[in-house]
Amino acid sequence: MCLCVIERRTKMPAIQYSLAAGRLRRSEIRELLKLTRMSDVISFAGGLPDPSIFPYQAVKEAAIRAIDERGPLALQYSPTEGEPFLREQLAAFMQRQGESVAADDIFEVASSQQALDLIGKVLIDPHDPIVVELPSYIGALQAFTSYNPEYRGIRMDYNGVIPEELERTVAALCSSGRKPKFVYLIPDFQNPSGITLSLQRRKKVLEIASRFDLLLIEDSPYRELRFAGEMLPSLYSMDTERRVLYVKTFSKIFCPGFRIGWVMGPADLVEKLVMAKQGTDLCSSAFTSFVAAYFIESGHLEKQIALGKERYLRKSQLMLQALQKYMPEVEGLSWSKPEGGVFLWVTLPEYMDTEEMIKEAAESKVIFVVGKAFHCDGSGGNTMRLNFSYPTEEQIVEGIKRLARLIGKFVRHESAHVRPQA
Ligand code: PMP
Repeated sequence: MCLCVIERRTKMPAIQYSLAAGRLRRSEIRELLKLTRMSDVISFAGGLPDPSIFPYQAVKEAAIRAIDERGPLALQYSPTEGEPFLREQLAAFMQRQGESVAADDIFEVASSQQALDLIGKVLIDPHDPIVVELPSYIGALQAFTSYNPEYRGIRMDYNGVIPEELERTVAALCSSGRKPKFVYLIPDFQNPSGITLSLQRRKKVLEIASRFDLLLIEDSPYRELRFAGEMLPSLYSMDTERRVLYVKTFSKIFCPGFRIGWVMGPADLVEKLVMAKQGTDLCSSAFTSFVAAYFIESGHLEKQIALGKERYLRKSQLMLQALQKYMPEVEGLSWSKPEGGVFLWVTLPEYMDTEEMIKEAAESKVIFVVGKAFHCDGSGGNTMRLNFSYPTEEQIVEGIKRLARLIGKFVRHESAHVRPQA
């Protein structure tokens, strides 16, 4: 018996991993997020909502209703397409947001991250070209990379992805008989850059997609969190050819703990995604679906969004003011001015490398995400992503002071003026 235990401890099976497993990498963000649980670290790293605005009481009441009114269904398996009551509530919510959607169009997923993985599963064969923004959401790159695509990155400016570059890249691929499987875009307050695709460019992107017969994936977790400027139509609502797959989630507008997302788009593709989900988890959680449905039905979702917009406007302004006040005055240093969402993007002079800074930043107890992690082509070494929704107002000001001090140390130009720290 004793010998048997020893043998079990020492003998390791020679596990034969798949090629896909060989491509798996831990997400840099999720690794950094572990530090956010340490109370003295100021984190600009994650994309976490402000927990002080989570609607605890309303969720509690919705959970009680889910059990009292729908107990046997709420604790049971649900259809893979999603709990019908939630699909109805989601459709009604989307309609109130100006989208033309019916309950039957909605496919519930276990958060939008699952949708991204399912998209990879049903669309990408090894070495297929796919097109993403430069930079793009790291979690999407992580999900797609498991299926081994060939990335083509399209640069952005402060108006979003540059259509001429998109056109050039797609044309080159198509002329060599390699039409991209899809173009993945985050048009509203993009993760990581906070940048929004302008209306004119939305039209242009759709026109290019139509001309080259492309599938567009519109991932839009932050859209409802617009706290300045004018709401722009989604690509999904502008599209007249059913070539946009629209991916939505509760994570930023309500709370990520629910792990609920939803997808709408070409019926045939959605059907494939449903089949892929069956192999992944059979169905989403009926219980959280009912809680979420009651939450929406009683009008709390819109209230929650209003609260989020108010809070994030204030926090983004504080961060912008602190950047303006404390950052060194140096050529090549700029940042985005988001009109919504939870992120802001800092570009440093080209000779700076945020990867070199991150260790020292952690020692100074402030963390961010290095921009390179969001670039499928390994560029973006002089960029970083800052989140303003999670840190407290005091932490935003103190964290930017620490960051500015750190960046100041890396300034090379003699002409640069480093502001004295208050
Ligand atoms: N897409 C984008 C653009 C995101 O920013 C995120 C979360 N950071 C997700 C998808 C995944 O969100 P979730 O899985 O929580 O719905």
